[in-house]
Amino acid sequence: MSEIVLQIDGKEVTAQEGTTILEAARSVGVAIPTLCDHEKLIPYGACRICTVEADVHGKTNLVAACLQPVENGLVVRTRTEQVDQARKIILEQMLAHAPDSEQLLELAQVYGANKDRFAKESNFCILCGLCVRYCDEVKKKNAVAFIERGAKREIVFIPDIAIRECWDCKECFPLCPTSALQAAYYLTEALMSPPVPSTPSCKGNCSK
Ligand code: SF4
Repeated sequence: MSEIVLQIDGKEVTAQEGTTILEAARSVGVAIPTLCDHEKLIPYGACRICTVEADVHGKTNLVAACLQPVENGLVVRTRTEQVDQARKIILEQMLAHAPDSEQLLELAQVYGANKDRFAKESNFCILCGLCVRYCDEVKKKNAVAFIERGAKREIVFIPDIAIRECWDCKECFPLCPTSALQAAYYLTEALMSPPVPSTPSCKGNCSK
């Protein structure tokens, strides 16, 4: 693999070919926010909060730092007006789904995002895919999955697998940036529990 020389926030950075901008930035201590990134998972580019500005072949583009590979001569800026504006809007959209997420609220302060800008659609999930991908790529269990498309897209635990695999695992819980996963899991747990009678038994005297 050859070495690539690029510039990130004015610093000259040397990285191996195939490295992403996010990895190269981290290697020199430049912090870029992420929500769907995990060291054990294949980059997914779902949340786009890692958006940065990059000059490639004379063109300036906004790119996802977690997906974009480094190139010789690439000039990257991680905090510009455009970058901050893009992150602000992304956060405002996510906060419509998960208005109480501490992680989102902390980032909202940094980028001046208004958590009430968009109408609330609180399903608590920002579709980062961390739980789904971790269960697939690391645990190889596929106990949690995405269903539906577009606005209806959500995560569900697959009861048949979850009942076997999740009780002693739960490694995906702390990965969730919105805490949605716990709620979803407990819902599944509740659905799988034997129904509890809501009234006392009539002990064979039910006709009265
Ligand atoms: S439940 Fe949490 S970890 Fe799973 S996709 Fe939604 S936000 Fe991400």
